[in-house]
Amino acid sequence: MKLQSLEIAGAEEGPQLLITGGVHGDEFAPMVALRRLGRQLEPGKLSGRVTLIPVVNEPAFLRGCRTAEDGLDLARTFPGRGDGTVSERIAWALSERIRSADYYIDLHSGGTTLTICPLVGYMLHHEEAVRRAQQRMARAFGLPIVWGTDPRLAGRSLSVARDAGVPAIYAEYLGGGRCDAAGVEAYVAGCLNVMGLLGLLDRPPVATEPRYFVEDDRPESGHLQRGHPAPADGFFEPCATLGEPIALGAPLGTLEDSLGSESITIRAAQKGIVLALRTFPSVRQGDSLAVILETDWARDA
Ligand SMILES: [Zn+2]
Repeated sequence: MKLQSLEIAGAEEGPQLLITGGVHGDEFAPMVALRRLGRQLEPGKLSGRVTLIPVVNEPAFLRGCRTAEDGLDLARTFPGRGDGTVSERIAWALSERIRSADYYIDLHSGGTTLTICPLVGYMLHHEEAVRRAQQRMARAFGLPIVWGTDPRLAGRSLSVARDAGVPAIYAEYLGGGRCDAAGVEAYVAGCLNVMGLLGLLDRPPVATEPRYFVEDDRPESGHLQRGHPAPADGFFEPCATLGEPIALGAPLGTLEDSLGSESITIRAAQKGIVLALRTFPSVRQGDSLAVILETDWARDA
């Protein structure tokens, strides 16, 4: 499996940064942002090497879906297998690229079904040097939420980076099946900001602080596909506002059956900030309808 990449080798020595988009085929802002970065980066102004893979999961993108035809979520398939299914082979190929990088950024969005508040995340790495590098990268990226989560999560691109000791962050920006222009802008700026931090580019540091800085090492923290599972199949209509505070038990939205005779109010199981909302109305039982960021875990760092 060969992954199509843009390689920008700088005139000066420096670190090697890998940036990926399209691990999920229906997440579009990262793909546009990385192509724009590829056109914008000038080797003469770069110290080090940047590798951009705008569409990691091309088979999924071509289907217009989150996953390739084997149905495996690529972000649960790492490190994959060289002789496996299409998703396993993609995971295997990307794992090699991640292990050979000095730093890694993986750009996502909520895809077709979810809309996610702009955030930068990382795993709370057991090695302090790696954890601190990730914190600095996440803050430098410049999005309003910085979220450090469970370091034990398996199967992700960041799990490969964790095992290899490569400092890595990921980002989310809206989604809902759209390619948001503000998301593209924010991703281009965020990647350039991290390049400045790492010494790949001469660029002033980001002055803004994130609105929320949350480090939460409870098991399974960081899951964006598990919150508020739908109790039945149905039509979901959210009523909560993305990014806004929400109280315990406050309504997130309603789930109705075909005739509207059964209507279930979905209520917040935690208090915090509405981090992700299901915006694609067709829902199967068990699908995640919302994720709440528990800002009680916020601490000043
Ligand atoms: Zn994704």
